[in-house]
Amino acid sequence: MLRAEEIRKSFPVPGRSSAVEVLNGISLTISAGVTAIVGPSGSGKSTLLYCLAGLERPTSGRAVLLGHDLTSISARRLALMYREQIGFVFQSYNLIPSLTAWENVALPQRLGGKRVDKDLVNEALTQVDLLGHAHDRPGTLSGGEQQRVAIARALANQPDILFADEPTGALDSQSALRVNGYMRTVADRGGAVLFVTHDIPAACTADQVVVIRDGGLLVTLSSPEPVDILDALAAPYSPTTTQ
Ligand code: ADP
Ligand code: MG
Repeated sequence: MLRAEEIRKSFPVPGRSSAVEVLNGISLTISAGVTAIVGPSGSGKSTLLYCLAGLERPTSGRAVLLGHDLTSISARRLALMYREQIGFVFQSYNLIPSLTAWENVALPQRLGGKRVDKDLVNEALTQVDLLGHAHDRPGTLSGGEQQRVAIARALANQPDILFADEPTGALDSQSALRVNGYMRTVADRGGAVLFVTHDIPAACTADQVVVIRDGGLLVTLSSPEPVDILDALAAPYSPTTTQ
C-alpha cells in the first residue's frame, strides 16, 4: 500500500544558516491492516505522516503510495487519489464551520464533481453514531463529536488508505476505542489505516506499531503490549531503517 525509502525532512530556521532535521532517514512498509506510528511529542510523527500522505514534500528520499511515487506525482493525480482512494483526518479536524455535519461529510463528493451518494453519507454518520447530529454545525458539537464528523468525512469516501493525525487525542478512553473501531472498518474492507499517536495504549490497538524518537525509526513491532513500546522508547539510541 505504502513504501517509504530514506525519508528525510529538514526545516529552515529563521536567522540560522543550518536547517533543523526533523526526520533523519525513515524507511518503512505499510500493508493492509492498521498501523500506528507512536513517539513522544515533537518526535516528527505529524511531519512523517504528511510526507507519507503526499501533503508535505520530503527533503530527500521518497514515498510510493498506492503505486504512485509521490516525488514525481502531479498535483492533479494526487487530488484525484484524494478524491477516490485516500482519506485524511487532520488533528485540527478542518471542518467547514458554516456547513452542517452532513454537508461536511458530503463535501469531498461535492468537490469531486460527483453526485452526492446520500446513502454513503448517512452510513458514515451512522458509523460514528452522529446521524442524530446530521443537521448541526460544527460549532455546536463537542470536540469529540467534531472529531467523529472528520472521521465520517474520510470514511464516506470508502478510502483504500486512511491517514489520521492523533485521531483520539481529544477523546476519553471509551470514545477512543470507538474511534479506533470506526477506522478499522477501512482495514476490514482490505484497506490500510495509518494513524499517529503519542498515546501508548492507543497505539496498542493497531496490528503493527512503528516507534519513532527524535525523527528516527527505532523499531517496528507486531501487536505489541504497552511495555514493549516503553522498552523500545527507553532503549539506547540505535535507529534502524529496516521495516
Ligand atoms: P509530532 O507530531 O511528533 O509532535 P512534528 O512532526 O509536529 O512532531 O514536529 C517535529 C519537529 O519538527 C518539532 O520540533 C517541530 O517544531 C518541527 N517542525 C514541524 N513542522 C515544522 C515547520 N513547518 N517548520 C519548522 N519546524 C517544524
Ligand atoms: Mg503531531
